[in-house]
Amino acid sequence: MTVATESPQLERLKAILAEVADLSHAQQILEWDARVSMPRDGAEARADVAATVTRLAHAHFVSDEVGKLLDDLDAAGQDPGSVEGALVRITRREWERASRIPSALAGEMAQASGVAVAAWDEAKAASNFKSFSPHLERQLELKHRYIACFPETDEPYDVLLDEYEEGFTTAQVEEIFGRLKGELVKLVERHGGNAVEEIAGPYPVERQQEAGRLVLDAFGYDANFWRLDETPHPFAAKPGFGDIRLTTHTDERDLTSLFSTMHEFGHGVYEFDIDPSFARTPLGRGTSSAIHESQSRTWENLVGRSQGFWHWFYPRLQRLFPEPLGSVDEETFVRSVSAVRPGLIRGDADEVTYGLHIILRFELERELLAGTAAVSDLPEIWNQRMKESLGVDVPDDAHGVLQDMHWAGGLFGYFPTYQLGNVVSVQIWDRARKQLGDLEDQFSRGEFSQLREWLSEQIYRHGSRYQPAELLRRVTGSEIDPEPYLKYLRTKFA
Ligand code: ZN
Repeated sequence: MTVATESPQLERLKAILAEVADLSHAQQILEWDARVSMPRDGAEARADVAATVTRLAHAHFVSDEVGKLLDDLDAAGQDPGSVEGALVRITRREWERASRIPSALAGEMAQASGVAVAAWDEAKAASNFKSFSPHLERQLELKHRYIACFPETDEPYDVLLDEYEEGFTTAQVEEIFGRLKGELVKLVERHGGNAVEEIAGPYPVERQQEAGRLVLDAFGYDANFWRLDETPHPFAAKPGFGDIRLTTHTDERDLTSLFSTMHEFGHGVYEFDIDPSFARTPLGRGTSSAIHESQSRTWENLVGRSQGFWHWFYPRLQRLFPEPLGSVDEETFVRSVSAVRPGLIRGDADEVTYGLHIILRFELERELLAGTAAVSDLPEIWNQRMKESLGVDVPDDAHGVLQDMHWAGGLFGYFPTYQLGNVVSVQIWDRARKQLGDLEDQFSRGEFSQLREWLSEQIYRHGSRYQPAELLRRVTGSEIDPEPYLKYLRTKFA
């Protein structure tokens, strides 16, 4: 940080941004509570609260005063390489996007999402797509109104994607996914048929929670700043600096919860390690969804499915689950948790089939927005494409089109960032290993701090200071490139 005294304009801008951030943190607490502890029938009332908080935050942010302060600061000249320059840049980007949207629409979208997520929850439990479809129609209508606030473009999806992945276009996603799809299908054909059987449980829930805590402790979880709760659809939240909330979903039939806990840890540690001086400003969060997902996937897959990790952790897991695992050796177990196994659920998918789940969602949400797929036909289209791409039969909508909450939450444009995150994670991983040497040895001793410190230094502490493409260039020296990821998969599954 520079010690130069701040201009009154910068001081005033930061004061407004701090209030906007506080309102956004309040909204995050409301959302966390809605998904973790609110009684079911509180959803309608909660959606009203969310709408009001969102509308007030929006109106406060898009005020003419913020626009004027940004103009003054730009006129005074900002060093684009400085923290202040980055703050002005990112604030202007967000201000210009937000200013296009009426505050009333921002509130309406928050309200609709609150109601739709609750309806999705019920629809999924009953596997009843029909009861959810009016909410999906409503979300699509709102997205069209939202997109209409932006200059007309050949590719309306760009407007949505840009919100999560600054500077990234639909055409780039198509190009990368086009390269991945053929290769992934080939890998599934080659390895999907001879999958090692899943090792049947039961794995009692309390023991799984204990296993999750052992792993988190070794990764660097600190109960003074973090918490972990159960929820149907895992996520991570940071409703303030020093307040990291992870959630997981534990089912005694399998060990999925362990991997989702590691996944959410990746999101949590990214947010936790951000430079505290960025608190209550737009710099104080991860720079993009793909970079965020690259970190969750790093801790879930590149660490959590590595030989070294399991060499350390498997004996501990065996002690927790002597019944199902006592007679299963380490090698068999590691092969089982890494196996390519075409299945129904994205969140449970292995590293190879995962990308095909994402590509399906990316294609479908673009068709829904373009009107070339109708909401009423969605289950049928879904089931047919799952059969084509993964060869699986979808038994019901709960295990099909209703499995994810993203569309209920209005998060169109988010899905591609998961797979871009996978791609980026390996580029960063290759660089980490070049600089730190082979990490497996450390992992096999239960040591993860060197990796965490490196990631923190290279990525986490910077928050949103660098645009995603710039950050990637700084860390890896290159643009986004699917080749290292494909090479990683080919080698791992050879
Ligand atoms: Zn994630």
